Amino acid sequence: MIAPDYAGMVYRRCGRSGIVLPALSLGLWHNFGSVDPLETARAVARRAFEAGITHFDLANNYGPEPGTAEETFGRILRLDLAGHRDELLVSTKAGYLMWPGPYGDGGSRKYLLASLDQSLRRMGLDYVDIFYHHRPDPSTPLEESMLALDQAVRLGKALYVGLSNYPPELVRSALTILRSLGTPVLIHQPKYSMLVREPEAGLLRVLEEEGLGCIVFSPLAQGLLSGRYLEGTPADSRAAKPWGFLQESAVTPERVAQLRALNELARARGQTLAQMALTWVLRQSAVTSALVGASRVAQLEENLGALKGAPLAEDELGRIDRVLAGT
Ligand code: NDP
Repeated sequence: MIAPDYAGMVYRRCGRSGIVLPALSLGLWHNFGSVDPLETARAVARRAFEAGITHFDLANNYGPEPGTAEETFGRILRLDLAGHRDELLVSTKAGYLMWPGPYGDGGSRKYLLASLDQSLRRMGLDYVDIFYHHRPDPSTPLEESMLALDQAVRLGKALYVGLSNYPPELVRSALTILRSLGTPVLIHQPKYSMLVREPEAGLLRVLEEEGLGCIVFSPLAQGLLSGRYLEGTPADSRAAKPWGFLQESAVTPERVAQLRALNELARARGQTLAQMALTWVLRQSAVTSALVGASRVAQLEENLGALKGAPLAEDELGRIDRVLAGT
């Protein structure tokens, strides 16, 4: 059995709910697929839980191959985390293409409920803690998608529901429906980092007003906001791999110059760039947790170090803004 260092982890209240989340959570989008070494995946997940990271985030399509991250996590649950289910908060999602034909994508009741059943089978779980609609589907009535999330809870297959990639006005509409149904809606999952600041334009305010938690994905911009790309693109990095959405073309000379300038600011405050990037997203009171990925244990250790750093002062935030604005 693992004895997690609960006292060493920072837990933050998830909106106006009974749940707290670790300030860092672990995402299994990359590094847990059938293309990745199982032993590394196991070591990262074990180290995360040991450090008090109680929340593991998945989706039906994580891999590659789609579905294999859930299978890997199922093996880890059996091999390494057996007996700990009640200490873990496991999430999964449906909303992107998962299987061929008209019912394997989108937001229909047919797709969402079938996909959740598949996810549970792959992970060997009776229920997930959070079931998300992964993205809005404009071709399905919002009522239908929200009723499917509600049904997942009523069937005992999810404890809470969440929304991901929903814009602020759609969050409000979805909440009106979910609250009228009495559905326990817990959290929103948007993309947010120093390089992607859209949630500042309204979403974070709406989440706070509505009492919804917020877990931000890709807080390191898939690794760009770390030491990884300061000298170009390493052969074993995400940007160098043939799959995934981070391409080597994103590592432009201008981007590297900006990352180096941010790295200098981080060094001046005794942090690495990855640590400063995490401190930066967690400065927002609306943000409950930063959802990181890690391809090795050392990255996770470094990221955990962010929780020991001082908060960013106003003048430091100003300097970061100036680098981001290129002024
Ligand atoms: P990050 O921005 O944290 O990127 C993680 C990657 O950055 C790692 O795989 C690694 O890449 C590199 N990295 C991490 N820490 C360090 C470090 N200390 N030093 C150097 N490199 C580091 O997050 P992700 O993009 O992986 O997203 C996190 C999670 O968010 C996903 O797993 C998923 O759960 C969720 N997500 C949700 C989405 C949604 O639509 N709801 C969409 C995307 C993600 P490398 O392989 O190069 O070592």
